[in-house]
Amino acid sequence: MKRNGTCLITGGRVVDPSQDLDDRADVLVRNGRVAEIGKGIKADGVEILDATGYIVAPGFIDMHVHLREPGFEHKEDIASGTRAAARGGFTSVACMPNTNPVIDTPGVIDLIRMRAEEVGVVNVFPIGAITAGLECKDIANIGLLVEAGAVAVSDDGKGSQDSYVLRRALDYATMFGVPYISHAEDKRLAADGVMHEGHYSILLGLGGIPSAAEEVHVARNAILAELTGTPCHIAHISSAGSVRIVREAKARGVAITAEVTPHHFTLTDACLTTYDANFKMNPPLRSEDDRQALLDGLRDGTIDCIASDHAPHAHNDKQVEFPYAAFGVIGLETALSLACNELLHKGVLDLRELVEKMACAPARILSLKAKGSLKKGMDGDVTVFDPDAEITVNADEFASKSRNTPFNGWKLRGAPIATIVAGHVVWNARAASKAASR
Ligand SMILES: [Zn+2]
Repeated sequence: MKRNGTCLITGGRVVDPSQDLDDRADVLVRNGRVAEIGKGIKADGVEILDATGYIVAPGFIDMHVHLREPGFEHKEDIASGTRAAARGGFTSVACMPNTNPVIDTPGVIDLIRMRAEEVGVVNVFPIGAITAGLECKDIANIGLLVEAGAVAVSDDGKGSQDSYVLRRALDYATMFGVPYISHAEDKRLAADGVMHEGHYSILLGLGGIPSAAEEVHVARNAILAELTGTPCHIAHISSAGSVRIVREAKARGVAITAEVTPHHFTLTDACLTTYDANFKMNPPLRSEDDRQALLDGLRDGTIDCIASDHAPHAHNDKQVEFPYAAFGVIGLETALSLACNELLHKGVLDLRELVEKMACAPARILSLKAKGSLKKGMDGDVTVFDPDAEITVNADEFASKSRNTPFNGWKLRGAPIATIVAGHVVWNARAASKAASR
């Protein structure tokens, strides 16, 4: 990863909730940091990016991605995953620990950070496993993981099935000030379900995963966050009940936050009538009532941020009968367009709130103190996007190694224009389209 870049972004509408700014201005990044923000900035001999007509925001952070390295490099690796992030307008990603080996030792954190340094094009923040091997038997050495660079601990992909072990792990985590990112799923209640339990699972004859499987863990984890003092972040919240539980816990002052994925705020279980495995993910797409509750949660601040849960899978993981297909969809390269199309243009969020949920909130939750803001001295990470660009999603053009998206062919309004990391333009839509037409 290149650092200490210098560039001048001119003429855009700068939307930065961290300093209550929404105005036409230039942004100068010098030696990797924001040096100046204002009108008519002059700087000689620096790269200039004309952002006239576009939105200029603090770099977007996707706090939930699966980069698949180490262990599953045929699905994705740090090089391809960070290129996909840049192409999607993200300047930073946090990667989940369900790799092989699991991120449960400082050695694996070191490996990821080294690879990101060598081949990554955006910032990569590793998330450590909360228990050894994500098995929920022995607590991971959280202190060493944090010392090596873990920004959070998580049980993503598995959930913590033993409440006692989780409680002890959270007690231990309080000493290091990192949040717990919860994959809320009671595996016994989820049984062998492959989709949301409801009208459509009965209609299609597929095993259902009840909302209760998620909600039981959301409620438990809110209670354990209160008991132990370790903040709990609910990953990929999907049900109306979960939103209600988080809302109530927040009202009581519990340190709890939540993220929602673009697929959960856009799609419902009605999509599964095609038996297309690109609609299979965990947690599953739920009912329209649940989707409406997610939108309400975004509106009233119960849901703090948007994260893709980018989960690449190879063709043969998905091209099998529905019950046998792998769970998960990719999302880095469609998240911003879906957020504009489904939230901004449908009046769920305004621009300021959208930037807050894609840049400021993730920086705050993960304590990335120099990110999520374009104040002078902060990291020179900038996302430039056009909320009105009309695009057609074409998975063949993705930088990701995988193609498991449910949105291929969708026409959406809103798209990233340029991604700037530490003052370097790491992706630029105009340069990319020129290369494609050559
Ligand atoms: Zn998960």
